Amino acid sequence: MDQGSKSINISADEGVILQKIFRHGPINRADLAKEAGFSRSKVSGLVTDLLFRDILSETNRPGSCHGKWKDLDINQHLGYLVGIDIGTTSVDVSLADCSCSLMEHQFEASNVNDGPEIVLGQATNLLEEILQSQNVKKADILGIGVGIPGPVRFPSGEVIGGQFTPGWEGHKIQEILSKDFPGAVIMTENDANLMAVGSFNEGLAQNTDNFIFVKIGTGIGAGVFCGGQLYRGATSCAGHIGHTCVDLAGPVCRCGNKGCLEAKAGGLAIAEIAEAAAAEGKSKLLMRLKNENRGRLTAVQVGEAAARQDQIAQSIIIGSAALIGSVLAGVVNLHNPELIVLGGGVSKLGDLFLAEIRREVLKRTYSYTTIGLRIGISPINDTVGVIGATHFIRDWIFLMEGKPLSLAL
Ligand SMILES: [Zn+2]
Repeated sequence: MDQGSKSINISADEGVILQKIFRHGPINRADLAKEAGFSRSKVSGLVTDLLFRDILSETNRPGSCHGKWKDLDINQHLGYLVGIDIGTTSVDVSLADCSCSLMEHQFEASNVNDGPEIVLGQATNLLEEILQSQNVKKADILGIGVGIPGPVRFPSGEVIGGQFTPGWEGHKIQEILSKDFPGAVIMTENDANLMAVGSFNEGLAQNTDNFIFVKIGTGIGAGVFCGGQLYRGATSCAGHIGHTCVDLAGPVCRCGNKGCLEAKAGGLAIAEIAEAAAAEGKSKLLMRLKNENRGRLTAVQVGEAAARQDQIAQSIIIGSAALIGSVLAGVVNLHNPELIVLGGGVSKLGDLFLAEIRREVLKRTYSYTTIGLRIGISPINDTVGVIGATHFIRDWIFLMEGKPLSLAL
């Protein structure tokens, strides 16, 4: 597979060592042996080789004291990692060091329907601004992880969901971006999958092996973690819960079917229901907001109206949350997760939205499946996509390239 020039060959045992260092940060050799389940002499040999190849470096962690040995960390001089999160209406770009510590994050409005050349051009411009402000050279970019708001064939990165990303189907993002960044390893994934990866590494789902990340925006999709690994399914399409039918005679969805959850409860549906209510004169506040916004409403505005005790707005949000909760109840019955993390723009609709989802999930599941189940809104909602993209590309470069996928974090 053509993955650029920065190929780093890691054996399976070295992958285990790196995985533990990524998970636990700077760590001493004794703790590393314990975490990896290897003998100290085996760890010593592996570490010596990784140090010799400049993949690891030794570091003086404040307060640590382990005899003559220093703590071990990934070598920060290897290069930088880029996360790109393409949404339906925005593009986010970030730069991070090799430990996945975010250095800078920028975003701007975009329209995924403009196609890959224009939207990836926006992402490239944002990245070049970041590189300039951080004084980082293009050639020092080790890898770029890209999230797309639709299904992506893994690991080829081919976009396969033309209904959700018109004009993108069949394109390989790697090939387009590699014209500007020929030395970087570039990989593409579905955005909800990357948000799950971000949540697993730095968000609510840390140390949680079985969880669902639900992105609720214009569309509704989920990233699924089973046994500490991202679950992609047979055709890289696991998690498309937004296309579960909740109304046999409901409106036509982007996917072509009728009555999908997304078409009844996603961000666009919330806005359209509120616009209709405003047009019928049911809510003075929604009418005023609609007039101020050139005859349109957004889901966020409906949330604002609900927070101001507008009863129509509240009923629209409760209706959306109830449908989402009922579908998540089915997901819980199937998957039995420890945690559901809600993210995306619509997840910011507030306590009313979250409370209704929780109520529906608890009401409609087999009781033993919800013992200890947590449902919460992602505290890193604005960056979880780029954080996930950064961890995804780092793990690919160091743990997965040319190796069995079971090594994926
Ligand atoms: Zn659908």
